[in-house]
Amino acid sequence: MKKVKDIVFGSLNISLSIIVLFASFMVLVPKVEASSKEPNTIAEYRQELNNLKAKKKRIENEKKLTQQEINEKNLAINKAHQNIEESEAKIEEAKIEIEASQTEILKYEEKTKELMKYNQVVKGENAYLNFVNDASSLTELIMRLDAINLIAEYNKDQLNTLEDLINELEKKQVDLKNYEKQLNKDIDSFTARIDELDSSLLAFDDDRMDLEEEIKAIEEKIEMYKNAGCGENEALDVCLAKGGTNKTFMKPVTKGYITSLFGYRNVSGQSSNHSGIDIGVAEGTTVYSMINGVVAFTVKKASCGGNKVYIEGIVNGQKYTVVFLHLLSINVKAGDVVTTQTVVGKSGGRSTATRYGGYDRCTTGAHLHVSVSKGYWKNDATYRANLINPPGFPKTKGAWFYSRTQWFD
Ligand SMILES: [Zn+2]
Repeated sequence: MKKVKDIVFGSLNISLSIIVLFASFMVLVPKVEASSKEPNTIAEYRQELNNLKAKKKRIENEKKLTQQEINEKNLAINKAHQNIEESEAKIEEAKIEIEASQTEILKYEEKTKELMKYNQVVKGENAYLNFVNDASSLTELIMRLDAINLIAEYNKDQLNTLEDLINELEKKQVDLKNYEKQLNKDIDSFTARIDELDSSLLAFDDDRMDLEEEIKAIEEKIEMYKNAGCGENEALDVCLAKGGTNKTFMKPVTKGYITSLFGYRNVSGQSSNHSGIDIGVAEGTTVYSMINGVVAFTVKKASCGGNKVYIEGIVNGQKYTVVFLHLLSINVKAGDVVTTQTVVGKSGGRSTATRYGGYDRCTTGAHLHVSVSKGYWKNDATYRANLINPPGFPKTKGAWFYSRTQWFD
């Protein structure tokens, strides 16, 4: 996953017209419908491979669009933060101006008060009588009183102007605060949209394959069938029946306890469908095949799921694919015929985890993940659609089993 910063600075110029162009292109590209029938010849697997390659192209376009929208939203968030910063600066300016005006007002009020006091004094009876006897002094008194009134009037005007200014600044502050509120709302909604888009880019399930892996898997599978001597159009269930059949599943480890159940669960706040069960076992625990069958393919150091082994076989007449994830090491390869006594590998999950310096971001602690899907592996989507709760394991979290044959209904 790219850092937000990289995304923001990685692609600064996104034009809407490109998006519209892509969007209309997306609509025009016909969806490649996966046939529900399981391939039973190498030729049919080749068809599946072509479908996957077409799907890969389509998904890459979708990802591009999603990434573009994330970039846009990040830019918008950055802009909003900038606007908030500018708005904060303006609010600060207004605050300073208001304070200065208030100081001014105090000064004018002080001056006016002094003038009024003086007015009172000169209007005092003694002063008035003194002036009555002296006409020139009386004129002077009247002029002086007029001057006082004029100055007082001027001061009042100044006070009004300053008070208006303060009102205006206070209103501006309120407007700016409201503007900031709106920007913060925008940021929240952009962030929510980015989360949404991010989670559509990220797979939280611990064994979702990326298409690259899926294509490699099917190529390995075709190779395996060819090496097994299956003809291009030969029925694979006949060709592949060398693993023998099984009456039931066996446990992959001699003991362990369930740390996570099959189905919906919450991972870092995101609801995800857990494709199997997690068994708490120390790292390095020997992992056996749960069925007699054939290794369909392996995936090495996947960014989600780590080392994976896919085994195909028949139990009670039903075809299954049994999968182990997060392995520390793999002991088998595609085409290997395995029995329930075959050591498939060693369990991992901790040292392999990204957070402890490993390569697998979909594990956090030592455990073995087991998935069981009905049918042989055809592609990731079909495999996921046919997942079942791995049979025979304890059905509650934390519950232990103590042997490879212990069965829980
Ligand atoms: Zn798991």
